[in-house]
Amino acid sequence: MINVVDTYPETNCGSAVVVAIHKLKTDRESHRMIKNQTARKRVEKERVAMNLRAEHAGLPEPKTMEDYQLVFRNEYQFIVMEDTGKDFRVKFKGEPQDQQLYFIQSTKTGLYNVVKNPSTLVGKKFFCRKCQEPGPSMKSHKCKPPDI
Ligand SMILES: [Zn+2]
Repeated sequence: MINVVDTYPETNCGSAVVVAIHKLKTDRESHRMIKNQTARKRVEKERVAMNLRAEHAGLPEPKTMEDYQLVFRNEYQFIVMEDTGKDFRVKFKGEPQDQQLYFIQSTKTGLYNVVKNPSTLVGKKFFCRKCQEPGPSMKSHKCKPPDI
């Protein structure tokens, strides 16, 4: 898991999105940014730019993960997992996209962190990125039918 340094409730969600997007990138700057999220206010600046982008697209100012999913609907699939204390459940997921952003939301604080590897998070060998179900192995896995 990658901790999102910004724990201010108003901006944590947007900062988590910035961190998750840079997690997918492999360039050195992105790597550095995740390691030192407050340096040169880069996360903050990108969050502000991202919100402007939403405005330019005619969308309301994004505040929730659902709002940010709408901004990036043609680029990324957002998957929000919730830690219930006993297990992890998918709280929200957007339309399928090749590139996925996984988040974990704390039930206590409502704050988001970024999930590096969903199978590690749920403590299973296998985690299906198509239906978000964990399991012992890919071989024995059958995709869960989508919710109606
Ligand atoms: Zn599956």
